[in-house]
Amino acid sequence: AKRNPEHKYVFYDGGMRERSGFTLGLESDLRRATGGGEFELHFQPKIDLVGNRTIGAEALIRWRHPIRGMVSPAEFIPLAEETGLIWEIGAWTLIESCRRLADWIGRDLPIPSVSVNLSPRQFQDARLVGFVRSVVESAGIPPGRLELELTEGAMIGDIEKAVTILNGLKDIGVRLSIDDFGTGYSSLAYLKRFPIDTLKIDRSFVRDIVKSSTDPAIVGTIVNLAESLGFDTIAEGVETQEQADMLRQQRCTRIQGFLISRPLPVDQFETFLCNSVVP
Ligand code: C2E
Ligand code: CA
Ligand code: CA
Ligand code: CA
Repeated sequence: AKRNPEHKYVFYDGGMRERSGFTLGLESDLRRATGGGEFELHFQPKIDLVGNRTIGAEALIRWRHPIRGMVSPAEFIPLAEETGLIWEIGAWTLIESCRRLADWIGRDLPIPSVSVNLSPRQFQDARLVGFVRSVVESAGIPPGRLELELTEGAMIGDIEKAVTILNGLKDIGVRLSIDDFGTGYSSLAYLKRFPIDTLKIDRSFVRDIVKSSTDPAIVGTIVNLAESLGFDTIAEGVETQEQADMLRQQRCTRIQGFLISRPLPVDQFETFLCNSVVP
C-alpha cells in the first residue's frame, strides 16, 4: 500500500511574531497566497465501521508557502478570520471542493459526499446562503452530497439568526454537521432547533477514551442524545484500533482519523477510493 508522506508544518512562533512583526509578514503573505494558487485541498476519508464503507471525505486546506513550506490551517485560518480574508479563502475552498466532487461523480468514484469547513465569520456573512446555492448549482452536484461543518461557536450569540441561516442552507438541500461537538456551548434547547444532520464528536473525547473512566460515558451520552434528536454521529481524530473498538461499544460506528488515513492530496485520495471499493 502507498503511504502518504508526512507533511511537515511550520508554525509561526507567537513570541517571535511580537518581536519582529511576524504577523504583518504572514498577513501580506496570506494576501498574496489568496490571489495566487498557493492553496490546495487534501481529503480525509470518513468511514462507517459497519460494512467498512467510505461515507465521505473532509476537505482540509493546505498552504504551500514558497519559502516556509506547509503552513498549518490552525495558524492561518484564525488570521484569515481576523483580516477578513476568510471570505475569499472560504469561497475558493467551497468552489474547489464542489469541482472535485463533480469530477469524482463524473468518473464514478465511490464517494458519497464531501464536507467543507465553514468558519464563524463565513457563517455570519449575509452572502453565505446565496453563495452556497450558486456554487452547488454551477458545479452541478446533487446538494445532498455536500456537507458543511460548523462549530458551535459560529452559532452562539444570535440564536434566531443562526436558525434562519441554517434553515436557508437546509433549503438548498446540503447536509449540516456540528464540528468539535462537546467543546462549545450548545444547550439542549438550542440544539433541538438546529436543522442539522450530524454531530462530530470532538477529538478530545476520543483521545483518552481507552484509559479514561468518564470519556466512554460522555461519548455514549452524545450518541444517545444524537439518536433522540434524529442526528447521526461521527468521531474524529481516531488513531488506534482500541479507540475504534471503544467507540463502537458506545454505538458510534462512523469514524475519521489517522487509523484510517491522514488527509491525502487528491491523487492519493483517489487511489484510496479505488482501493477501498467493497466488491
Ligand atoms: P477540524 O475541522 O477539526 O479538522 C480536523 C483536524 O484534525 C485536521 O487538522 C486534521 O488533519 C486533523 N486530524 C485528522 N485526523 C486526526 C487524527 O487521527 N489525529 C490527530 N491528532 N489529528 C487528526 P488540520 O487539517 O490541520 O486543520 C485544522 C483546523 O483548521 C480544522 O480543524 C479546521 O478548523 C481548520 N480548517 C482546515 N481547513 C479549513 C478550511 O478549508 N476552511 C476553514 N474555515 N477551516 C479549515
Ligand atoms: Ca472539520
Ligand atoms: Ca473537528
Ligand atoms: Ca478542531
